[in-house]
Amino acid sequence: ANLGIVPALVGRHDAVFSDRLNHASLIDAVQLSRADSQRYPHGDLTVLERLLAASPARRKLILSDAVFSMDGDLAPLPGLLALAERFDAWLVVDDAHGFGVLGRQGRGSLDHFNLPAARRLVYMGTLGKAAGAAGAFVAGDATVIEWLEQRARSYIFTTAASPIIACALTASLDLIAAGDARRQHLWQLVAQLRAELADTRWQLLPSPTAIQPVIIGDNHDALRVASALFERALWVPAIRPPTVPRGTARLRVSLTAAHSEVDLARLVDALRALA
Ligand SMILES: *Cc1c(COP(=O)(O)O)cnc(C)c1O
Repeated sequence: ANLGIVPALVGRHDAVFSDRLNHASLIDAVQLSRADSQRYPHGDLTVLERLLAASPARRKLILSDAVFSMDGDLAPLPGLLALAERFDAWLVVDDAHGFGVLGRQGRGSLDHFNLPAARRLVYMGTLGKAAGAAGAFVAGDATVIEWLEQRARSYIFTTAASPIIACALTASLDLIAAGDARRQHLWQLVAQLRAELADTRWQLLPSPTAIQPVIIGDNHDALRVASALFERALWVPAIRPPTVPRGTARLRVSLTAAHSEVDLARLVDALRALA
C-alpha cells in the first residue's frame, strides 16, 4: 500500500519529509516516488518545521509511522498535522501497529489523539497485525481516494485481495469493534511488564503500546538472551542493526491480548534470571 500511495501523490521536483525511524516500506516508497528525500530526527517537530520552511518543493509530503515498529512509541500526530496545515503539505500516516488496538473501539492512532479527518491527511492501516488477516487499506478525502484508485500502481496492477481475506476481515472487524475487554487486558499486560522490569539492568524504551523493546545493546548478547528465552519456550526475537541503530540491539517483546498473566510472569522471571 505504501509503495502505491507515496508515488501516486508526489514525484520529481516534490519533497518527502520522513521520520528517521520510519518502516522500510515507507523508505522504499520514497525512493520509488523519485521525490527529494528529507529525513528528520525521530519525532523532532522543530527540525521538521525548519526543513519544511526551507523547502522550495512544489508539493510536500510528511511521512510517518503512527506507532514505530521497533520502538513502540507514538508519532506526535497532532503536531505533524499542524505542520502539514501550515506548510500546505500532505500527511501520510502508517498505522500498522495502531489500527485495531489504539483509540475507541480500536479505531487507531488518529482516534487515540482525537484527530478529526482532514483533507490533507491520508491514513494507511495494515490488516496482517491486529486484524489477523493480510493486506492493507487507505482512507482519506474522497478525491484523494479516487486519485489513488487511478494512480497507485501497486493497487492497479495487482490482483484484487482474495474473497477469503474479505470474509475473514468481516469477522476481524466485528471482533475489533467489540474488543474493549481484549484491549483492556492488553494494556494491563503492558503496564505489568513495565512495572516488573523497571528495576532490572536492561532498560525498556518509553513505549505505551504492545511493542515493548528491551534494550540489550550488544548484538551478541541480544542473540544469546533471545536463544536462552527460546530454550525456556519464550519466543522473543532479537533485533539488531541495521534494522535498529548501532549499539541498541534489543529484544522486541510483542504482547497480545492472547497472552495471559501467567505467560507474562514467565517472561519476567526468565528475564530476571538471565539479567
Ligand atoms: C508491519 C508493517 C508494515 C507491513 O505490513 P504487512 O502487512 O506485513 O505488509 C508496514 N508498515 C509498518 C509500520 C509495519 O509495522
